[in-house]
Amino acid sequence: MLIDFKNEPFTNFRLPENKKAFEEALAKVESELGREYDLIIGGERIKTEKKSRSINPSNKDQVIGIVSQADQALAEKAMQAAVSTFETWKAVPAQARSRYLYKAAAILRRRKHEFSAWLVKEAGKSWSEADADTAEAIDFMEYYARQMDKLAERHPLTRIPGEDNELYYIPLGVGVVIPPWNFPLAIMVGMTTAALVAGNTVVLKPASTTPVIAAKFMEILEDAGVPAGVVNFVPGSGSEIGDYLVEHTQTRFISFTGSRDVGLRINELAAKHRPGQKWMKRLVAEMGGKDSIIVDSDCDLELAAQSIVASAFGFSGQKCSACSRAIVHQDVYDQVLNRVVELTKQLTVGDVVNPDFYTGPVVDDKAYNKILEYIEIGKTEGKLMAGGEKAEGNGYFIKPTVFADVDPQARIMQEEIFGPVVAFCKARDFDHALEIGNNTEYGLTGAVISRNRANLEKARTEFHVGNLYFNRKCTGALVGTHPFGGFNMSGTDSKAGGPDYLLLFTQAKLVSELL
Ligand code: NAP
Ligand code: MG
Repeated sequence: MLIDFKNEPFTNFRLPENKKAFEEALAKVESELGREYDLIIGGERIKTEKKSRSINPSNKDQVIGIVSQADQALAEKAMQAAVSTFETWKAVPAQARSRYLYKAAAILRRRKHEFSAWLVKEAGKSWSEADADTAEAIDFMEYYARQMDKLAERHPLTRIPGEDNELYYIPLGVGVVIPPWNFPLAIMVGMTTAALVAGNTVVLKPASTTPVIAAKFMEILEDAGVPAGVVNFVPGSGSEIGDYLVEHTQTRFISFTGSRDVGLRINELAAKHRPGQKWMKRLVAEMGGKDSIIVDSDCDLELAAQSIVASAFGFSGQKCSACSRAIVHQDVYDQVLNRVVELTKQLTVGDVVNPDFYTGPVVDDKAYNKILEYIEIGKTEGKLMAGGEKAEGNGYFIKPTVFADVDPQARIMQEEIFGPVVAFCKARDFDHALEIGNNTEYGLTGAVISRNRANLEKARTEFHVGNLYFNRKCTGALVGTHPFGGFNMSGTDSKAGGPDYLLLFTQAKLVSELL
C-alpha cells in the first residue's frame, strides 16, 4: 500500500552528520570530474567526435565532464528509437509504468547528496539550493507516479441503461523534451518522467550548460529498469538539433522550459504542418518571468525585506520565479529599501563548495556578460544602492545588486535579466502597485506583503500571475502544494507538479459498448 504523497524534506546542514555526509558526496563527485559522457539512443551508448566541455561556473578551469554532441543524423536515430519503442511502451500497463518512477525516486533518494553535489559543481548552486533541486526531482517522480495511478482508474461517467462507457487516457507518441539549465535536475526530471509515465517515449535534449547532471540521471533510469529507447539522450546544441527535432514529422509533442524567445520560436515551428505529418503537434512551453513583490503600507516590514532578498538573490536570481521588481507603497518605501540594502550588503558570493557563501556564480559567460550589461543599463535608469559590479574569484561572480527609484516602464523593470538584480519602484497606493505589478508581458509569480484583508482579496483576483503568494517569498514552489506555471509570455500555464499536468501528455479515448 502506497503512502500518501509527501514533499521530500530539505536537509538541515547545520547538523554535523549532514554536513559531513555532504562533504563526502562532494569529494566523491570531485574524484569523478572530467569523465566522458555518451549519447544514449535505444540503450546504446554512442560517442561522437564533437564534444562539449561542461565547466564549473565557480571555477572556470575545472571541467565537470566532456559530453558527446548529437548532430542531426544522431537526432534522427534517437527519433527512430523513440518511434519504435513507443509501440511496446504504450502497451505497458499504467501501474507498471508508475512503478519505474517509484523505483527511480527511491534510487535518487539514496544518492541524494551525490546528485546535489553535482548540482553544486555543474550549476553553481549553494548546498541548500542544490538540496532543494534534488528534493524537487524526487517529488516530481513520486507525484507523477501517483497521478498516473489515479488517471488509470475507471473514471465516473454518466451511466445510461444498456450501455457500458469508459474513458481512457492514452499516450500521445514521441515527445521532444527540452529543459533549461537552472533547475537542471528537478525540471529535467519532471518534464521527462511526466512524459514517460503517461506512456510516451522521449527524445531528451538537455541544456548545453548542464548536461552531466542529466547524464547522471540517465544512469538512474537504467538502474530502475526503464526499457531501452523509452528515453533517448541527445545532448547537443539547441539551434542545431533543437529545430530539427521540433520540426520532425514524427514528433507528437514538445515539452519545453526556457526563455521566451526560444519558446516563441518553437511555437512557430511546431505549428507548421509538414507533408506526412498526421497530427497537430502539442506544445507545452514554460517560459520567462519578470516577477514582483508588492509591499503594502500596512505590513510586516521585516517580512517584506526578508522576502524580497530571499526571492531576488537565492541562486543569484536565476529562477524564473525570482523577484526582480519590488513595488513598494510610498509610505514604507524608504524603510523597506533601506532594510533590503542592509541585508543585501551582508550577502556573500563565492565558490559554493564552501557552504559559508550565501550564493554562487551565474551560470556561464553569456549570462555573466548579459547581466553586467543590464547592471550598466540600471545605472542609467535608477539609483544604485548595493552591488552593481562583479565579485572576486575565478568564476562568474556578480554582487547582489539593488537599484532604487526605477520607473515602471524602465528596461530593468520590464525585461528578464535572470541574475542577482532587483529594481525598486515607488507606488502611490495599493491600486497603483497592482497596476505596476501587471504592467509586464509576463505573468509567472508574484507576492503581496500586506495585513490589509481587502487589499489581499483584491490582489487575489486582479494580480494576474500564475503563482501568487501572500506574505511570503515568490520563489520555492513545492510539488503537489504549489502547482507551477505562468500566464501570457510566461508560457502555457501547464502547472507542473499539479493534478492536471499529466493530462497534457495524454489524449482521452471514449469506448462505448451497447450491452
Ligand atoms: P533557453 O536559452 O531558452 O534554453 C532552454 C532550452 O532550449 C535549452 O535546452 C536550449 O538548448 C534549448 N534551445 C535553445 N535554442 C533552441 C531551439 N532553437 N530549438 C529547440 N531548443 C532550443 O533558456 P535557459 O537559459 O536554459 O533557461 C532560462 C530561461 O528559462 C529563463 O527565461 C527562465 O525564466 C526560464 N524558465 C522558466 C521556467 C518556468 O517554469 N516558467 C522554469 C525555469 C526556467 P541549449 O542549452 O543547447 O541552448
Ligand atoms: Mg557548466
